[in-house]
Amino acid sequence: MPATPAWPPGSLPRLFIDTALAIDEEIVIDAAQASYLVRVLRLKAGAQVKLFDNRTGEWLAEIAHIGKRDAILRVEGKLRERDDVPDLWLCFAPIKKGRIDWLVEKACELGVARMVPVRTQRTIVDKLKQERLKAHLIEAAEQCERTALPELSELTPLAALLSDWPEDRTLFYAAERGGDSFRAALVAHDGPAAILIGPEGGFTDDEDRAIRALPQTAPVSLGPRILRADTAAAAAISLWMAGRGDWN
Ligand code: SAM
Repeated sequence: MPATPAWPPGSLPRLFIDTALAIDEEIVIDAAQASYLVRVLRLKAGAQVKLFDNRTGEWLAEIAHIGKRDAILRVEGKLRERDDVPDLWLCFAPIKKGRIDWLVEKACELGVARMVPVRTQRTIVDKLKQERLKAHLIEAAEQCERTALPELSELTPLAALLSDWPEDRTLFYAAERGGDSFRAALVAHDGPAAILIGPEGGFTDDEDRAIRALPQTAPVSLGPRILRADTAAAAAISLWMAGRGDWN
């Protein structure tokens, strides 16, 4: 649920509802969502909103009742089916609060299907606040009109990530110490893909060797400048989306 109204005049607010939606169903929304509709957007009974459930698609609903702490939305009709999301994962070493929130929000907007936080030797974050990150994902999906939420995995050690790596998925390894141009790598590798971004301090030499030893790895450069991890993630997702995703 967006913290500030993000809906241009004429467009309807969108809310994520974590239950399967169906025609004529009455949905009781939680206090935070109701307060957002009534206090921030100043909506009244009879106003329309869009709902999506990450299962069945996007629906039009009418506010049947609204109070300060609760609201009931009646589902009126289906607007569209759930999106087919391009098959791209973002594997990233968690970075500090603020930057990781930005990263998760942008990765959702840019269109990734799954995010995998990865613990590396130089990762400075011990524990992840999954619930906070999930809230950022949902807010980003509400604003950017996704109907499918990206999956958010548990924090995974790098060694486990590599040892369980799927055979058919290319791992585009963002390597500031030498990689092909992204454009060339995209020509050579189609199909399911993932991007791997290191922590603020980069990968250690051992980690770099282990990542490169995986047969599915394609080391890629993001240019001559060293980017912050969050910038590198957004740049790499954009390049993949433009070359192999749904931006064409
Ligand atoms: N290794 C650097 C160091 O120790 O100062 C900085 C790491 S950089 C801030 C974080 C991550 O962003 C890197 O591990 C890499 O995955 C990615 N990255 C940053 N700039 C890059 C570039 N020019 N090409 C490829 N990857 C890059």
